[in-house]
Amino acid sequence: MSRTIVKNGIFVTLASKEEPVLNGYMVVENGTIDGLYEGEPSPETVNGNTIIDAQGKWVLPGLVNTHGHTGSALLRGAGEDDLPVQKWLESVMWPAEQTFTPGITRAANALAIGEMIKSGTTTFLDMYHLNMDAAGELIKDSGINGVLCRGMIGLCPEHEQREKLNEATDLYRNWHNEADGRIRVMLSPHAPYTCPPSFMEMIIDRASEHEISLHTHLAENRGEVETHKQQYGKRPAEHLAELGFFDLPALIAHGVHLSEKELDLFAEKKVCVSHNPVSNLKLGSGIADVPGMRKRGISVSLGTDSTASNNSLDLFEEMKMAALIHKGTSEDPTVTSAYDTLKSATAQGARSLGYSRKGRLEKGWDADFIFVDHSGMHTLPDPADRVLSHLVYASKASDVTDVYVSGRALMKNRELQTLDEEQVIANVRAAMEELKNLM
Ligand SMILES: [Zn+2]
Repeated sequence: MSRTIVKNGIFVTLASKEEPVLNGYMVVENGTIDGLYEGEPSPETVNGNTIIDAQGKWVLPGLVNTHGHTGSALLRGAGEDDLPVQKWLESVMWPAEQTFTPGITRAANALAIGEMIKSGTTTFLDMYHLNMDAAGELIKDSGINGVLCRGMIGLCPEHEQREKLNEATDLYRNWHNEADGRIRVMLSPHAPYTCPPSFMEMIIDRASEHEISLHTHLAENRGEVETHKQQYGKRPAEHLAELGFFDLPALIAHGVHLSEKELDLFAEKKVCVSHNPVSNLKLGSGIADVPGMRKRGISVSLGTDSTASNNSLDLFEEMKMAALIHKGTSEDPTVTSAYDTLKSATAQGARSLGYSRKGRLEKGWDADFIFVDHSGMHTLPDPADRVLSHLVYASKASDVTDVYVSGRALMKNRELQTLDEEQVIANVRAAMEELKNLM
């Protein structure tokens, strides 16, 4: 089989050392990185192989979005912008979602996946409760990596809870490790405030039986923690720990309102956190103690949450926000670095989702990589010397020109290769007509 040689780029490997490989070349074979070298490839290396010229680009691992809901992508900007999370869920999200048809969620899945690929995301987590098989098909066809989570709300009779759990287990049986391992599945109770303890226990038992990892929203806002304390006499994270939730591999979204004791527990149990700063700010939920998490060695990755609360799926924006807010709130610029932020958005995210060979440009790792153009005025001067700083504080999602997953091009020169962008947009327009008639 022919090899692919990516040459003339500045390679940000995010492997063992921070310094980029300048003017190097990377060899890709069968979807895997076969090596990364300094200098020009020899004529023998080039001969008979596919050559990709990365002149004027930074080459880095594809970005990883560890929390979102693609099915609700058409609710971007819907309702009022300035609502707290509970009111926003009850007055905007849940009533609209009641009307969703398969056509509407499919158009939303494609819109979100297209937006993510265009902004350099190669792996994402999708928690949703409708038509997850269609989301799986789209992940399979579009070539992106995706973690499917059938989100479960347990505010219903027990037989309905069981149906939801069985549906989530079927999703695992049908999709886990499909598409050459690009697709993974986790079990996903929506949150402790929507899943009573008996239902949580049912889910934990099922996860334990099939060795499935867990994902949930947790401690997103102060009110939710206070209500839980009144109802059960304990904090939600503390409660989940008692139920055995963290005895299994778990990724929690938000973790804004966690006590010192809960953070210690997360470190001990190796709980991973998806930090969603933009969504947390927009819904007025607060700011997670990421420096406190990092100090304890907790794995922190980045998520956008859905376009309904962000309102974009742009991980460049998320990286900049994540790097800046903790400097400001702690009045200490040393608490975050550009390097740590990039690691959060790549390898740490991939590991949190259970992918062991993604997030670095290194021999033996999956060839998931993106090109970021550094010729714009906003990324000058010295793109070779100031790579990490420019990538986190100056680059924009629109600077992403090419996106590869397992060596396959999903976008070339800003043009989607596996999705028909015009068709995706036409389907969104048709779905919006349908939605307006239904609501
Ligand atoms: Zn969410």
